[in-house]
Amino acid sequence: MSDFDYDLFVIGGGSGGVRAARVAAGEYGAKVALAEEDRYGGTCVIRGCVPKKLMVFASTYRDAFQDARDYGWDVTDGPFNWQTFSGKMRAELDRLEGVYRRLLDGSGVEKLDARATLKDAHTVKLSTGEEKTAKHILIATGGRPVRPEMDNADLGIVSDDIFHLDELPKSMLIVGGGYIACEFACILHGLGVDVTMYYRGGQILNGFDDEARGLVAEQMRTRGIDMHSGASIIEMENREGGTWVKATTGKEKTFEKVFFATGRKPNSTNMGLENLGIKMGRNGAIEVNEYSQTGVPSVYAIGDVTDRVNLTPVAIREGMAFVKTVFGGEPTPVDHELIASAVFTQPEMGTVGMTEEAARAQEEVEIYATSFKPMQTAFAGRDDRVMMKLVVSKANRTVLGCHIVAPQAGEMIQLAGIAVKMGATKEQFDQTCAVHPTMSEELVTMRNPVRTS
Ligand code: NDP
Repeated sequence: MSDFDYDLFVIGGGSGGVRAARVAAGEYGAKVALAEEDRYGGTCVIRGCVPKKLMVFASTYRDAFQDARDYGWDVTDGPFNWQTFSGKMRAELDRLEGVYRRLLDGSGVEKLDARATLKDAHTVKLSTGEEKTAKHILIATGGRPVRPEMDNADLGIVSDDIFHLDELPKSMLIVGGGYIACEFACILHGLGVDVTMYYRGGQILNGFDDEARGLVAEQMRTRGIDMHSGASIIEMENREGGTWVKATTGKEKTFEKVFFATGRKPNSTNMGLENLGIKMGRNGAIEVNEYSQTGVPSVYAIGDVTDRVNLTPVAIREGMAFVKTVFGGEPTPVDHELIASAVFTQPEMGTVGMTEEAARAQEEVEIYATSFKPMQTAFAGRDDRVMMKLVVSKANRTVLGCHIVAPQAGEMIQLAGIAVKMGATKEQFDQTCAVHPTMSEELVTMRNPVRTS
């Protein structure tokens, strides 16, 4: 008989925490409790990936109406009704939260709707005043969007707020050039908002392949998003018609709304971690080893609160690896290599492995790339361009990176990611017969490198 109330106490009911709790209880028979102070499903389900993707879908109909006419359909488009859409979206999120709650119940996890903080290495304190003990504690509290440190920054909204707008503004300034900034620039533009972007660097999507992000930026600009590089806000205040801003470029303008997409921060403050001696990085990320274990052996942390690779499927894997290690008796390090991901801009970007720039810095490479107007939109008279690119090691012919800019690039990179993860060579890509006519067939038909180093 254990001396503790539980075998495992999970703090945070997002994707990672819920998966770890369910598997520990359901598959390994552990006695598990989970505390969540807000809604079950976390960032991904409630204020991230899921509602964002629904908004992506909604925003693509603008082009679809025009394309349909170009294909001979007699259709007329009207204005987008945000209230109709957002009501349905919120109902869908309620449904999904219900699914998460039921999954926990079905696995025998005790749900505690409260905030939990750490009292000692085996004790958590709940906002209800109760204290619970556990042999293991798993912190899966995720992250939150942050505004830049400047006067009046709270006049700007962040990604959490987008899903709760009463109505869509006529004009919006998006500050930042990362995933969230670019995705919402495309979404809101598609929904009819006049979108301006200020990003402080020379190009959007820092860290992605230069050629790929260059094409995404070019296409976003062509679609009508007003993009300004080397621009940040230095002053902002409420004025008639919205929020007045002054940029580092000297430009002054009033936008109906300003949206800060300037990064996220781990949710690790006021949790009692410092008192236990749990180490955190400068941005508050909990430091863990390859098994997601903190310096306090009974306390583990997974997902965005550890700021390793901040993606839902990664948090889920970290949760599964934790359970296998602690309850399965099988020490399982988390594999963070060659994770495929997508940016849901329009066009989408799918990517796995090394950028051309990173690969070149490491070894001699051959670059196979092609950019073209895809059949579907070219027929409709659009100038959209797509890109398929492979970064290949000259020494052993391994495909080190694959970058796709195209509609449905997220779907494509999931499959290309299998080959890259398996260590496929360029010749193995070439041995694969093309599926015709598709955009992705170019990945297996590129004969000659466009560049070598
Ligand atoms: P990112 O780190 O991707 O981007 C932050 C952006 O804000 C960058 O352009 C950064 O500039 C800029 N920035 C940071 N601080 C300031 C400042 N003080 N003033 C002006 N600009 C600033 O963060 P996001 O919030 O977009 O996304 C967070 C994470 O969430 C992502 O890294 C990703 O892991 C995840 N995510 C994944 C998605 C997906 O898989 N499709 C979708 C959405 C989020 P600079 O580049 O110069 O530092």
